[in-house]
Amino acid sequence: MYRSSLLFLLTIFIFAACQRDIEENASTIDQIDIPSDLQPYFQTFKEKALENGLQIDYESANITAEIRLIDEGSVAGTCSTNGHDLRHITIDESFWNQASHLLKEMVVFHELGHCILGRGHEESAFPNGICRSIMRSGLGSCRDAYIPQNRDYFIQELFSSVEGL
Ligand SMILES: [Zn+2]
Repeated sequence: MYRSSLLFLLTIFIFAACQRDIEENASTIDQIDIPSDLQPYFQTFKEKALENGLQIDYESANITAEIRLIDEGSVAGTCSTNGHDLRHITIDESFWNQASHLLKEMVVFHELGHCILGRGHEESAFPNGICRSIMRSGLGSCRDAYIPQNRDYFIQELFSSVEGL
């Protein structure tokens, strides 16, 4: 009798310890409702923001996200926000399934540019026709060039016009 209740207690303890590990692991990233596929991109965005002097707290921003089919032509992502308590990013599932890592990053950063940085669209272009910002709408005439050589420029541009949060 004594032995079995000790074993029972031991089991409870191990279970409780596991539970605590899980909670601790989860709290090392912000506890946000973000699909695991998107989390590395959110994390990179946060790191890049910090490099550019902006501290981002997804938890207090109350941001949520999902990957699902967007039934609107070529829309790869959307940000629904009222600038306060509603910040929701949707990434199109068919886009996500065929896009390269860089293209995924561009689209997630674009939507975070709306939802977290509060940026609108920016359609201006360099003389060669390349968009000056990844905040372009995609409906204008400039062309995207989010390629490895340009990534640092575009990331810096993304945060450069944002004055604190
Ligand atoms: Zn947009």
